[in-house]
Amino acid sequence: MDWLPAKMNKRDLLNKIDDAASGTHLKFFGERPGLSTFLFHSVFENKQQISSNQILPQERMTVGVFCQFLDYFLSNNYQFVTPEDIRKGLPDDKAKYGLITFDDGYFNNTLIPAILAEYKVPAIFFISTAYITEGKKFWSDVIYYERKKNHLDDSTILKEIIGLKSLKTTQVEKYLVKEFGEGCMKPLSDIDRPMTAAELSSFAKQPFVHIGNHTHQHEILTNLSAQEVGQEFITSQEILTQLINKTPWFVSYPNGSFSEMVVEIAMQNGLTMGITTIQQKNSLPLKTGKHGQVLLDRLNPVAVNGDTINYHRLQSSFQLKTQFKKWLQ
Ligand SMILES: [Zn+2]
Repeated sequence: MDWLPAKMNKRDLLNKIDDAASGTHLKFFGERPGLSTFLFHSVFENKQQISSNQILPQERMTVGVFCQFLDYFLSNNYQFVTPEDIRKGLPDDKAKYGLITFDDGYFNNTLIPAILAEYKVPAIFFISTAYITEGKKFWSDVIYYERKKNHLDDSTILKEIIGLKSLKTTQVEKYLVKEFGEGCMKPLSDIDRPMTAAELSSFAKQPFVHIGNHTHQHEILTNLSAQEVGQEFITSQEILTQLINKTPWFVSYPNGSFSEMVVEIAMQNGLTMGITTIQQKNSLPLKTGKHGQVLLDRLNPVAVNGDTINYHRLQSSFQLKTQFKKWLQ
């Protein structure tokens, strides 16, 4: 899960520099064509819901800001496409295309299809199926809520979350139960809960809604053995096929974490397109990787204080943060 804390730290500072650099770059060089994919997780009805601390706020996206996001990119001549459009091959290498994605499968995502229908734009929702079948909270949300009760600041909580990402989901959940008690995995309201199986089935039938695989337990796949990676994909594929009557072919890797092995096993399970959290626009025509999978990078629109998004950072082909990451690798 990718997320920016409210308090200024090194990452925030890098974002600030990135924002300034991307705005200047855009002003002088304009926007290059390509496919921009956008990552969302939750959507809040209003700003009060963000401050309820029930979930890690991630994009701090309200329904209003999501509409503002669509208005902005549609007025900047973006064409929002379906995953199928991408699979068939986008026809114009000089165009600006957008793909809207939501990860995880929160119930709060049920606010979105009515907006998609109003704007006539599609979106894909990547579902982690264990949450649908077990009705449990995501572990990062549990930590955020419990630590916020004790008034810990966001960057301290984020450090704890990042530290736990080397463990498997079941190990983290055991730690949480020991730390906060048996009931901590139980959702508090419609804000923090996943969809139920019945809700997902009817959600998937709505126009402009597409469904993809986000593994079963939301495991960080690079922590797992080959056999365990396969099982994460297979279980999720089976449950989704049963619930939505279609077998997904598009996977979002949890935490954006993948490896050669992960991609190869995804392909063996029919997941011919994958998506990461590497923050850059995809150049056209799209390339196919060594194992035959089309692997897309993805931008993360974050609403500042729940009010607005830095659109220049998303539009610019130049991202200092991404450049730094590349240099460091
Ligand atoms: Zn996720």
